[in-house]
Amino acid sequence: MNFPEWIQQYGDNLQLTVFFGFFITLALLERLISRRARSPNNLARWGGNLRLTIVNVVLFASLPVSFVAAAFWAEAQPWGLLNLRSLPLEISVLATLFLRGFIAWGTHILNHKIPFLWRFHRIHHLDTELDVSTTLRVHPVEFVLNLLIGIPLVVLFGLTPWALMLYEVFDAVVVVFSHSNVRFPTSIDSILKYIIVTPDLHRIHHSSWRLETDSNYGPVFPIWDLLLGTFRGSPKEPHETMTLGLKDNRGSNSRQALWLLISPFRNDSSGNTPPLQK
Ligand SMILES: [Zn+2]
Repeated sequence: MNFPEWIQQYGDNLQLTVFFGFFITLALLERLISRRARSPNNLARWGGNLRLTIVNVVLFASLPVSFVAAAFWAEAQPWGLLNLRSLPLEISVLATLFLRGFIAWGTHILNHKIPFLWRFHRIHHLDTELDVSTTLRVHPVEFVLNLLIGIPLVVLFGLTPWALMLYEVFDAVVVVFSHSNVRFPTSIDSILKYIIVTPDLHRIHHSSWRLETDSNYGPVFPIWDLLLGTFRGSPKEPHETMTLGLKDNRGSNSRQALWLLISPFRNDSSGNTPPLQK
């Protein structure tokens, strides 16, 4: 069995294994070498965030569709840009990683700019701290909506299935790392942040200052932020003291899973519209 066949067969299990392996490892490291002081709200935060994580892992495992399944379908037709002709292996891998990165960047920016999508994505940004528990603090509807937006693009681009699976495994590693509150050598970060999304880079996206929230949309590779002008390499305030989360709700209800699940469906003044420019 060669590598493409292996990653196709075991990719799903590998994705979950590396996700939880990194989750536990970085959760321990956060306690030993924290970038920011631990919040007194951490117990309540972790309770709410882990409940949403469980909901999303169950949803992920039970959904009948995925980006990889869509890529297999497109390849069998054959449909999509990369399926028009046979390409050298390196080109199809690089193009798949590059275009999948665009789908992730584009979906994320739409989640910020379209009020209906922001209602759900806002749940992720309401966390007033950032650590590994924030990673899957995502509304399950956002999870499904992102699939609905992304699948037509996966087909349109004709992404190579095994390279796409490789991206999804890498995504599982990088998103846990980028949300973690682990102190990471700034000398390495100053170079690495131009290649993959580091904790210091992604923390800027979770800033409560709107200009910083509106930056660094790429979840794995910062290349599309660099190409399209949304890259912001350092925050206005020091990382240790900058305010994270949103200004419109910093109360205890934003740490309760049930409140978070219901929140997007409420029509009140609790900030369901994109925040005004500050
Ligand atoms: Zn965001």
